[in-house]
Amino acid sequence: MKIWIDGQLLDEAQAKVSVFDHGLLYGDGVFEGIRVYSGRIFELRAHLVRLYESAKAIRLDIPMTLEELSEVTEKTVNANEISDGYIRLIVTRGVGTLGLDPFLCKKPSVIIIADKIQLYPEEFYEKGMKVISSATMRIHPMSLPPQIKSLNYLNNICATMDAIEHGVQEALMFNHLGYLAEASGDNVFVVKNGILYTPPTEAGALNGITRSIVIELAKQQGLPVIEKDIARFELYVCDECFLTGTAAEVIGVVEIDGRVVGNGKPGPITAKLRKLFYEYAHGRKPENS
Ligand code: PMP
Repeated sequence: MKIWIDGQLLDEAQAKVSVFDHGLLYGDGVFEGIRVYSGRIFELRAHLVRLYESAKAIRLDIPMTLEELSEVTEKTVNANEISDGYIRLIVTRGVGTLGLDPFLCKKPSVIIIADKIQLYPEEFYEKGMKVISSATMRIHPMSLPPQIKSLNYLNNICATMDAIEHGVQEALMFNHLGYLAEASGDNVFVVKNGILYTPPTEAGALNGITRSIVIELAKQQGLPVIEKDIARFELYVCDECFLTGTAAEVIGVVEIDGRVVGNGKPGPITAKLRKLFYEYAHGRKPENS
């Protein structure tokens, strides 16, 4: 596998960062996860815009333009002959001292990894997933805005551990007010009486690119979408629930904290949006439809 690192495409074994990189020392940096579908990088521009905005918010100057980064991302995908896969684009603060001061880090590092991905087994997509409410509160949005996709994912990792401890793969995270924020690595939607609800970014949710596409696809179907605070009770009595994310795509949730969602199978709106998302991403219909 070839990894892009600071201007060079290197073999995996040669692609290394310093132990003094503040990305490693402090989680100081930003990243994106991007899909490649049928040989096309999916929503590359939207991901790059989000990356540059995350970087700007933490005063991290990415040492290349968005267009240059777009080109080298394509180059890395081609060098690894990926036609369906996943790109991890990372910008770290770079090499500094053992102190926090980011201004002592002279040059951010840009790393691009292009690989394969299967987040959840296929069975989960057919039968749906079980989730739990995490005991780990989502970090306060006024503390670290969720729009900054930073390298510091400890908050989400703690929630993931909560999920695994409970024998499920995903945990729902709630904010300081007790309202739903998002899942540990995905956005969350609920459906009630034909209306879709999803938490606003102010509630502590990342402005997910899959989320935005799903909102658009739902609206095209005439399905109303409302961004609003969602309490745990609303989750327990919803008709359908699903998660969205670059890696997860659209996946139905069939159980929340031991309460069965709907009839225990991914609901019709979830299935429809999953299909529409597939068509949009691949530019064609799913093989089995
Ligand atoms: N929330 C979090 C915390 C995430 O890490 C992700 C995945 N990047 C998402 C939501 C979903 O965002 P997107 O659809 O842009 O991948």
